[in-house]
Amino acid sequence: MDEATFLDPKFQNKHSVTSPEALQQLLGDLASPEFLEDVAAGFAQAPMNVRLSPYILSRIDWTNPYEDPIRRQFVPVASTRLPDHPGLRFDSLGEQDDSPTNGLVHRYPDKVLFLALDVCPVYCRFCTRSYAIGGSTDTVDKEGYKPKPERWHKGLAYIASRPEVEDVVLSGGDAFMLPARKLRELLMSLLAIPHVRRVRVASKGPAVMPMKILGDTDWTDALCDAVDHGRKQGQEVCLHTHFNTPEEISYISRDAMDLLFQRGVKVRNQSVLIRGVNDDPARMTTLVKRLSAINVQPYYVYQHDMVKGVEELRTSLADSIELERWVRGTTAGFNTPTFVTDAPGGGGKRDLHSFDYYDETTGISIYRSPSVDPDQYYVYFDPLDRLPAAGRRRWADPDEHARMVKEAVLAAGLSGFEPATPM
Ligand SMILES: *Cc1c(COP(=O)(O)O)cnc(C)c1O
Ligand code: SF4
Repeated sequence: MDEATFLDPKFQNKHSVTSPEALQQLLGDLASPEFLEDVAAGFAQAPMNVRLSPYILSRIDWTNPYEDPIRRQFVPVASTRLPDHPGLRFDSLGEQDDSPTNGLVHRYPDKVLFLALDVCPVYCRFCTRSYAIGGSTDTVDKEGYKPKPERWHKGLAYIASRPEVEDVVLSGGDAFMLPARKLRELLMSLLAIPHVRRVRVASKGPAVMPMKILGDTDWTDALCDAVDHGRKQGQEVCLHTHFNTPEEISYISRDAMDLLFQRGVKVRNQSVLIRGVNDDPARMTTLVKRLSAINVQPYYVYQHDMVKGVEELRTSLADSIELERWVRGTTAGFNTPTFVTDAPGGGGKRDLHSFDYYDETTGISIYRSPSVDPDQYYVYFDPLDRLPAAGRRRWADPDEHARMVKEAVLAAGLSGFEPATPM
């Protein structure tokens, strides 16, 4: 097709693929029948719906789809699936427990997460909000966050009533999917609250549909106008995006980020650390350098949350720590991401290295988060297939599970503390 058609965001939306049949039709003989069968079985088992833009499909190397880092993130296959760790649960971050109104998470004293909607331009297999995002699937019934005025008003009223809330993360779902008018309305409503000092718009859009920033001028103007309006009032509006691999950065993403840079929009990046995708030093370092080159500041790299159904994508904490050692020092400190674990059960983000205890054999790490709750501890589990044989043997025996956690808590010196999630 011609370039202008491909760069039209309406074309990208209209031709996004949501079923194995559509994918098969599009790929034709680019992919083998065995691979396509594997994908169809993967779709049926996945906790997330699938939605793939033509752009994202064009970034996949179809001569080697099994190894491709973009395929791994977005296209499920059944054959690589591993059994879930027994400690996994939906909503592993406990967001629903920290919500004063539906779709507003208030966990830290001065910041809130405003979940404005529940759809995204593409769906990531590893989504930490697979409990709510992207519509129900064969395996999960989802509550969902609709962009309804009544729900938004409740969220805004809550923020207005809490003068300590300075920082709002507008997320979802993905603000890319909000019509320009709604995005403008929501940002202006937030900026009208004087104690709101910073608003971040979270969107994976720049990584999966960057042509929208170049082509949907209404949407881009809504964002840039809010940035300008906020700046005049001393409030920061910025964009937080989600690139995971260097292959996601094309000339189109560069042009889109150049446009935002010229219009004064600060863009930061939050990556998820994913096995086989960005967990080796060369790839992660290249990502950091390429982001820096397009004026996107690498902010966080997240330890993969304990999400069900994607066990083959998680790394062990030991592997993540080793990766961080390689990345730090390769470029400017302010462009070096902080590696964090979102402590399961609602502890919030913790520096990966700040565990109270870590046992590489059982794969259990224990964190505290005193600013969220000084009396609790939080437990993260490495994926079982990354453990040494001695650790895997213990996890094979259900009677050992609680004992291993108890040992770790004792070794951490935290036996007087409460578990954030019951074992
Ligand atoms: C991640 C997150 C924030 C923002 O945290 P930062 O560390 O400031 O980026 C706010 N609220 C919730 C519930 C979060 O998960
Ligand atoms: S873009 Fe974000 S919210 Fe949407 S599916 Fe991906 S990780 Fe989940």
